[in-house]
Amino acid sequence: RANRKFHPDDTIVKAGSLEVGGKALAVMAGPCSVESEEQVTAIAKAVKAAGASALRGGAFKPRTSPYAFQGMGIEGIRLLVEAKKATGLPIVSEMMSPHHLELFEDLVDVIQIGARNMQNFDLLKEVGASGKPVLLKRGLSSTIEEWLMSAEYIMAQGDSKVILCERGIRTFETYTRNTLDLSAIPVVKRLSHLPVIVDPSHASGQAALVEPLAMAAIAAGADGLIIEVHNNPACALCDGAQSINPDQFASLMERLSAVASVM
Ligand code: PEP
Ligand code: MN
Repeated sequence: RANRKFHPDDTIVKAGSLEVGGKALAVMAGPCSVESEEQVTAIAKAVKAAGASALRGGAFKPRTSPYAFQGMGIEGIRLLVEAKKATGLPIVSEMMSPHHLELFEDLVDVIQIGARNMQNFDLLKEVGASGKPVLLKRGLSSTIEEWLMSAEYIMAQGDSKVILCERGIRTFETYTRNTLDLSAIPVVKRLSHLPVIVDPSHASGQAALVEPLAMAAIAAGADGLIIEVHNNPACALCDGAQSINPDQFASLMERLSAVASVM
């Protein structure tokens, strides 16, 4: 179902005003974690003003350490809904447990499956059966074949639309948090009709690298981006080092439009 052989035309995934895979670049931006109403609403307004097409924020966080901030949970989803009301931006958030399916079905526009859950097949089947648009991140050490098979798991359940997200993979290099696999973009675009977006924030782990990797991703044919934006990165409860501030995001959006216009 994800194979281009059987669906030669590009798929456009729509969720409210968000369109991924069409002519316009889809930029999903927001904080790694929702921290408070003021924080998420201020960031939502800023990214909307800069031209973002969706608000992405985490409420259930898959942290490496059980002692790290785990996200605000259901309250975080509620605050995202408030920010959506204030800005009109569709919301994208990660679901980690099938227990939360109803909550996400009712309140979230795109369900994110994180890298760590890419092969959580029961979770994939549940979100697939919901019919909601799904943002499927590539696993930390997953091959392109495995990633596309996970998209098949979702799509085999019904008519869910999948957006693929390259977010960097594990290599021997330690300078960056992960290694952005730029080749995956043209490879997947050939193998599949699904839209492909790139997350330069998690790929690099460093705010200073977000812009060059975002530009490269668009030049390589990506349909969109996920960018972590925080109004006070130094105090972020999660992923501050890779978060850019709203001013940096606005200037990134301007520079991206120059690359996008020649594509
Ligand atoms: C995230 O998107 O905040 C996240 C945890 O990303 P990943 O699943 O790619 O590590
Ligand atoms: Mn993050």
